[in-house]
Amino acid sequence: MSMINAFDAAAATGISERDRALIERRERLLGPAYRLFYAHPVHLVRGEGVWLYDADGSAYLDVYNNVASVGHCHPHVVAALSKQAATLNTHTRYLTDGILDYAERLLALLPQELAHVMFTCTGSEANDLAYRAAKAFTGGTGVIVTELAYHGVTIAISEMSPSLGDGIKLAPHVRTVPAPDAYRGSGDVGEVFASHVRAAIADMKAHGIKPAALLVDTIFSSDGVLADPAGFLAPAAAAIREAGGLMIADEVQPGFGRTGAGMWGFARHGIVPDIVTMGKPMGNGHPMAAMVARPEILDSFGKRTRYFNTFGGNPVSCAVGMAVLDVIENESLIDNARDVGAYLRDGLRGLANMHEIIGDIRGAGLFVGVELVTDRATKNPATAATAKLVNGLREKRILISAAGPHANVLKIRPPLVFSRENADQFLASIDEVLTGLGQP
Ligand code: PMP
Repeated sequence: MSMINAFDAAAATGISERDRALIERRERLLGPAYRLFYAHPVHLVRGEGVWLYDADGSAYLDVYNNVASVGHCHPHVVAALSKQAATLNTHTRYLTDGILDYAERLLALLPQELAHVMFTCTGSEANDLAYRAAKAFTGGTGVIVTELAYHGVTIAISEMSPSLGDGIKLAPHVRTVPAPDAYRGSGDVGEVFASHVRAAIADMKAHGIKPAALLVDTIFSSDGVLADPAGFLAPAAAAIREAGGLMIADEVQPGFGRTGAGMWGFARHGIVPDIVTMGKPMGNGHPMAAMVARPEILDSFGKRTRYFNTFGGNPVSCAVGMAVLDVIENESLIDNARDVGAYLRDGLRGLANMHEIIGDIRGAGLFVGVELVTDRATKNPATAATAKLVNGLREKRILISAAGPHANVLKIRPPLVFSRENADQFLASIDEVLTGLGQP
């Protein structure tokens, strides 16, 4: 699968000389593996709150970037970063206070069974570490992921990230299962998902592979934003545990309050995972990530090997992480995610009354998916129209993208400081662009 919403130089028109030169320079310096968003790429120079500004000073409403989740360049986070950077930055082989203060505060936000935290710099590293720990604890190698999952860039994790496409072969010990899709599937979502997990376990065993883990993004972002019904993960978690494997919740996308229902996506499902990984919004743009686990899982791993991650858990990162938690609390961002998310979904339902192309509206808090179809009865995916809508919104200076197996699900994921007024602007712009597109 090619990347959704990727810039295509061959088809590009209307790009300024300056941006064309930048694109050429990127290719010359960074090589061919990078992708830009949009038919008409955006050249950003500054961010503030929910706004991003381009080189001409135009403001773009950010309805996409979950990394800057407490708002771009939040002054409290920037101040904490600057103060610590001017005081001390070193690694975890010296005694420092910040990592322990942050670990205590973070662990207090997780179920008490999850009592150890190890720090990394990226979500990929956190998942890689989680896989190593799961292998050491279970003695197995098998991992189950969803059909369009993305979990990261290391060799081990890219080979369990089918959304990277056919260019990367999944590892022989990896099995994929259909994502838990209440819109396109039938039957009890949780039971159907668990039956796929059980079938994957049986297939592994038939091939002599011992299961180590079920690894899922608890909001299934790349699979098309699948959130409901809350609770659907519980039978699958039971199934993997029954087979001796671990339940790993990848909270890189939903974590830190985005779902509006507490800090973590797994909480909506009423489960306590064995391992939780997190990243992106943890540092609001500063590269920090972590893996949290039940202590007995890390016991065998920790005795067998040592762990040193040069930058993971450094004092600057920990000061940033603290400041992000301050803002989430002080600005009641979980409540805001719940309230504005509900308001946004209501508004989208209003638009669905006028635009037949809107087939499904789903999500939790400020992670919203809107599935576009050419026909509500057949649910035929409106892939081309979705690309037009995403690019049409970009021309109106509103940034979103798409997801899902047919690239027909709008991926709506603004910073958590998004207001009702921001939602109104977004809804009005969707209405205008869809009206311009005409009937599917
Ligand atoms: N897990 C999920 C669910 C993700 O979406 C991502 C990044 N898109 C990662 C892991 C990897 O995180 P990173 O890019 O920080 O390595």
